[in-house]
Amino acid sequence: MKEVVSDVVVIGAGPAGAVASALLVQRGWTVSVVERQEFPRFSIGESLLPQCMEFLAAANMLDAVQDAGFQFKNGAAFEWDGARTAFDFSDKFSPGPGTTFQVQRADFDKVLADEAEKQGAKIYYRHGIREAEIDASGARLVAECDGEEVVFRGRFALDASGFGRVLPRLLDLDRPSPFPARESVFTHVQDNIDDADLDRDKILITVHPRLRDIWYWLIPFSGGRASLGVVGDREKIAALGKEPQQILRNAVEAAPELAKTLRNAEFDTPVQRISGYASDVSALTGPGFALLGNAGEFLDPVFSSGVTIAMKSAVLAADCLDRDLCGEKVDWHSEFAKPLKHGVDVFKTYVTAWYDGRFQDVIFYQTEQKEIKRMICSILAGYAWDKKNPFVAAAERRLNTLVEICAAG
Ligand SMILES: Cc1cc2nc3c(=O)[nH]c(=O)nc-3n(C[C@H](O)[C@H](O)[C@H](O)COP(=O)(O)OP(=O)(O)OC[C@H]3O[C@@H](n4cnc5c(N)ncnc54)[C@H](O)[C@@H]3O)c2cc1C
Repeated sequence: MKEVVSDVVVIGAGPAGAVASALLVQRGWTVSVVERQEFPRFSIGESLLPQCMEFLAAANMLDAVQDAGFQFKNGAAFEWDGARTAFDFSDKFSPGPGTTFQVQRADFDKVLADEAEKQGAKIYYRHGIREAEIDASGARLVAECDGEEVVFRGRFALDASGFGRVLPRLLDLDRPSPFPARESVFTHVQDNIDDADLDRDKILITVHPRLRDIWYWLIPFSGGRASLGVVGDREKIAALGKEPQQILRNAVEAAPELAKTLRNAEFDTPVQRISGYASDVSALTGPGFALLGNAGEFLDPVFSSGVTIAMKSAVLAADCLDRDLCGEKVDWHSEFAKPLKHGVDVFKTYVTAWYDGRFQDVIFYQTEQKEIKRMICSILAGYAWDKKNPFVAAAERRLNTLVEICAAG
């Protein structure tokens, strides 16, 4: 049986795995990345947040991303029953980049994985992990490639397997998410948009005119294409039609402004559906391993936070692991899991408030209070770990106060 030995084994070469492995090889560690698929491959999660540009810079991947020709992004626009509002990410409270990109993930993830390889990570494509033995002395992971078994050994394992959730399944760490099972139905279109009101530099989030817990994304790409999706409670989405194509078409028809924007769109790509993606775990770390990105907790697509959280987890874990491998005593709970969870919980507060309508009321409220808008804008731009922002430091309390102000106004 073939055996591969390195300091660290990373499961999955998506954004979390690529960033973590680049950061570790930069610090002199040998890294094997074990990836089930061949790249490029389709993945969902196409709207990035400016906060993740800092993580790409740390991983020495920013130039490659900037040179790849992705659609520039400078904010988010929201539309509900004729009401429109927009957030310009450069006008935000937190310091840091204010722009980013809207990306086809097949291309984006390939750029990141190639950059990690150029820096020295060794990626084993078409190797799917199916067994894991891990303890404080190290990790032994068994992968399968073309019917052959390959054993990967390392002093530590990082699980960046996304929705594959390899270690949560194998180590029995899965725990139900507090969020109900929602469904997304989505595709790519040749958008042919001639609507002058549509700003291609922003993701457009449209709320269903009557059912406020159903919303749509329109993510313009470069080259005249766009990603389009609808998200909502499983039963409500199922009520829109039988086939995914019909569901998406009917959903768009139900939102007249969006239908107008997309009136010339060519639906030239199969429509996909995914449901029950919200997930959680009992522990983000244990002896010999840590969970990154979606392999840990996944909340919801609404604020495009998934890739940013994935990269944040990679940065935190690489820092802890570097010190751990050097023989330093690292408290993974307080130095990795807790700080990561802080930002994830901030997003969780706003996701909950989106679906119960409170945060939608805030978003569509035309406030004259510029500083408050800049603080909210920071969160929408991904700066959920900036505790100087009162809407991060005391998210629930501050949000509820703001909701009351908006209701009174
Ligand atoms: C409907 C929807 C819309 C979304 N929209 C956005 C958005 O606009 N913006 C955003 O930031 N996020 C979005 N997300 C979230 C985003 O998809 C994820 O958060 C992000 O891709 C997580 O990155 P990751 O590196 O953790 O995992 P992934 O990108 O999923 O990468 C995991 C990798 O692990 C590999 N793998 C899986 N199993 C195994 C195995 N057994 N062995 C080896 N390799 C394995 C996979 O092949 C994959 O390449 C959305 C999610 C959903 C469900």
